[in-house]
Amino acid sequence: MSNVTQPRAVNAAVVNSHHHMDFHQIQLAAPLENEVGVRIVACGICHTDLGFMTEGAILGHEGAGVVEQVGSAVKSVKPGDHVLLSYQSCGVCAECQDRHPYNCEHFSKLNFGFQRIDGTSAYPEGVQGHFFGQSAFADYCLVTEQNLVKVAPELPLNVLAPLGCGIQTGAGTVFNTLKVKPGESLMVMGTGAVGLAAIMAAKIAGAKTIIAVDREPRRLALARKLGATESINSDEENYLATLCPHLDYVIDTTGISHLDELGQDVLKEGGTLVRLAGIAGEPLTRGRKAISVIQGDSVAQDFLPKLIEYWQQGRFPLEQMITFYDFDDINRALKEANNGSAVKAVLVWE
Ligand SMILES: [Zn+2]
Ligand SMILES: [Zn+2]
Repeated sequence: MSNVTQPRAVNAAVVNSHHHMDFHQIQLAAPLENEVGVRIVACGICHTDLGFMTEGAILGHEGAGVVEQVGSAVKSVKPGDHVLLSYQSCGVCAECQDRHPYNCEHFSKLNFGFQRIDGTSAYPEGVQGHFFGQSAFADYCLVTEQNLVKVAPELPLNVLAPLGCGIQTGAGTVFNTLKVKPGESLMVMGTGAVGLAAIMAAKIAGAKTIIAVDREPRRLALARKLGATESINSDEENYLATLCPHLDYVIDTTGISHLDELGQDVLKEGGTLVRLAGIAGEPLTRGRKAISVIQGDSVAQDFLPKLIEYWQQGRFPLEQMITFYDFDDINRALKEANNGSAVKAVLVWE
């Protein structure tokens, strides 16, 4: 049987010199023996995309699609399989071998370095691909078995596409990192996709008090609908007075320093502040700790199926935060993701 892999012409959104995207036909090399070529059906937009708008880059790292080609060493998927894409890891370093791919030694290179692990690229000169091992703002991309999750063909790829980064980060922080238990209390600062995913997860975990903080009334209303027991508008002057301190956990998705301080103030002794936006703050006192987390400590192949199960049970209704756009509308989708009018933008090919 022949399994000859081929180069392929790809329609991809490439960042131009004005920080917009234009579609170009690009010739992509054939998959290497460990690579999988995926026809992209949908791709979420994550805030990390907005931070890498450099000329020549093909972004997109919440892809979902159908396997088209597989390299000769690929074991876990075959052409026709449906897959969700998540972050890239090397699979061989000590952390990867220890089942902690989110702490992969090569995480930066593989996810933000626009290259394969061996430093090569499947893309032509002047084009930067392999973003998060994907570059899924295109109708096709190359991935590896480390960053794909096979899913049942009847599942809606457009709804589930965003699970692979932002949603996994928020939900994983609650389930995998903090291991929130029934009756515990937490505050989530910022109710974008990451914060809302944390709120949905906290409700599933049985948290008694789930406080949502944001400045946007519409998002606070959505947060309450998805599981927040209280909501606080951080623009309202006396919101401090409404807070009850002594919370078990605070998850900050904003990186805003006065909110970070507020988070410290409401934590109980021994409580944990999670800084998801990467802010560097003062060390805490009274036994409280501040931690950072990558991808919600999630092994996508184990964790995404769990989130899909919750979604199927109606307990993790992420579609309520999604706005769909045609891929052709990518510039409008990026703008609306950036200004917050779309909580989670998902691009879909016609
Ligand atoms: Zn690794
Ligand atoms: Zn992301």
